[in-house]
This record gives sequence, C-alpha cells and structure tokens, in this order.
Amino acid sequence: EVKTQGRHGYCFYSPEMSQRSVASQRIENVLRHALAHGELSLQYQPKVDAALGHIVGAEALLRLQVEGKDAFLPDQFIPVAEDTGLIVSIGTWALREACVQARHWQREGRPIPISVNVSPLQIQYAGFYERLDSILCETGLDPALLELELTERTVMSGGDGTIRLLRRIRQRGVRLSLDDFGTGYSSLSYLKHFPVDALKIDRAFVRDITQDPETAAITSAIIAMARSLNKDVIAEGVETELQSTFLREAGCSQMQGFLFGAPMSADALHQRLVEQVA
Ligand code: C2E
Ligand code: MG
Ligand code: MG
Ligand code: MG
Repeated sequence: EVKTQGRHGYCFYSPEMSQRSVASQRIENVLRHALAHGELSLQYQPKVDAALGHIVGAEALLRLQVEGKDAFLPDQFIPVAEDTGLIVSIGTWALREACVQARHWQREGRPIPISVNVSPLQIQYAGFYERLDSILCETGLDPALLELELTERTVMSGGDGTIRLLRRIRQRGVRLSLDDFGTGYSSLSYLKHFPVDALKIDRAFVRDITQDPETAAITSAIIAMARSLNKDVIAEGVETELQSTFLREAGCSQMQGFLFGAPMSADALHQRLVEQVA
C-alpha cells in the first residue's frame, strides 16, 4: 500500500501509528460522506468591540455532526482534511456558505463582517483567487464584509507566490488576518512584509496573561508593535473579565471568546444582533 506522507514528511510503521491511521481513515470516510450529504455546517462566534462591547463581526467555524454520533471537533477532522486534500472542497464549501449567510444579513440591513479560516493547501491549490472571486460575484456579497483568517504557517508556506496572491485578494477588497498569532514562526520582523489587516493573539497567551507576568509583558509588546504597524489586534479565547480588562488596556481593539459568546447558529447570532440594536 502506498501511503501519502504524514504531517512531518515521513512515515514509518508502528502498531500505534497504524492505530492512528485507522482513526484518521474513519474520519476521512465520515468527511467524504458529510460533504456529499450536507452534514457539514457552520457556527458563528461573535467578535466584539473591546471598548464598547457590541458585536462587530463573527468567525465562521466548521461543525461536523453525524446523526447518532458525537460531534467531531475541527481539531480532529481539519488535520485529516488537510492530509487527504479534502480541505480544498471543504474549505470552498465553508467559504461559499459563509458568504451566502453574510449576504443574507447584508440584505436584511444588518451587515456583519464574517471571517473564514483558510488552510495552507487551500490557498496553494490552483485557482483559489478565481474561486473566491466567483463566490463573491455569485453571492453579491460586499467584499468588505469578508475576512480570511490565515496562520503564519499559511502565509510563509508558499513564499513570494503566496504573498502576491494575498495582495491580490486584499486588492479585491477582502480583509486578511493572521490567526493564532505568536504560535508560529513568531519572527515579529516578518510582520511588516505580510499584507494583513489584523492579528489575532492566540488563546495560549490570553489564557496566561493574568497569571504569568512574562506572558503579560510579551502580549503587551505584541499588541503595541502590531498597532505601530497599523494592524488591528483581536484577542482570541477571552474567558474572564480580568483577561478582558488587561487586553483592553493593552490596546486590543476587538475580542472573541466564551466571555462574549461561544460559537452559535446563524439564527442565534442574528438574534444577538437584533437585541443589541433594541
Ligand atoms: P481558530 O480559527 O483559532 O478558532 C478559534 C477556536 O477557539 C474555535 O475552536 C473556537 O470554538 C475556540 N474558542 C473560541 N473562544 C474560546 C474560549 O473562550 N475558550 C476556549 N477554550 N476556546 C475558544 P473550533 O471551532 O474547535 O476550531 C478549531 C480550529 O479549527 C480553528 O481555530 C481553525 O484553525 C480550524 N477551523 C475551524 N473551522 C475551519 C474552516 O472552516 N476551515 C479551516 N481551514 N479551518 C477551520
Ligand atoms: Mg480562526
Ligand atoms: Mg485562532
Ligand atoms: Mg487555532
């Protein structure tokens, strides 16, 4: 049997590994079935303005629920989707679905910017720009209402070609943000070359800021530096008032986390928006 290379570029045989590949084979089957039978869905997590607390955007997050089974978590199935290449079709589905939803909210007079996560393979796969462009045309969504979330790994993975592609996407009017910031290559000096509008401070920093003075110092420095480069800063995984206060005072412009709302259905998010205006 020919095996595709694993995440680390090589693969050898051990009972534990064959165990893992059985699990991932199973997830692959579930994913293929889900794609064909409409079992994928999106939830939306609010992003709030750090100073005023109102909802200023939402992140679309994939959900996979097969009837009669526990839900599969993205951290389980996204890696399998990336290893098998299925992420290209799944990612396209998620992008289109999020744009259709955002267009619906735009029509209803309650426009809300939507962020969609994009994997490295997806962006390197031929025709990403054309697919994005045609989804925007088909749905009629104002591109200013769409943001793509990329990790440092994604931006770095394709070299200059990727940077050029990102510039084009931005010229189309779509915003770009760097997700999980601080966990990747972490060389702050790269940041000025990245054509992104915003940084999302990873949850790992946020979790520790109120306990660990060094994490607090590093986080403050990242926020100050990002702001001096004219990037918006969003904190992810904000769970407590203490974290929220610290981050606001350090200069974060937006926040996202269970404190402000877990990922929810499109209807539930719409309800939150309606209540916010009332
Ligand atoms: P991410 O893009 O960094 O998304 C944030 C994750 O943190 C989400 O997990 C969200 O539910 C979770 N989260 C939000 N607030 C809190 C909090 O206050 N505390 C804690 N503990 N967690 C919080 P989720 O939905 O399980 O997604 C995990 C990852 O899967 C995402 O991380 C993203 O990298 C990936 N993913 C999700 N949807 C997509 C997609 O459509 N395409 C791609 N390529 N990746 C996706
Ligand atoms: Mg994200
Ligand atoms: Mg993140
Ligand atoms: Mg993440």
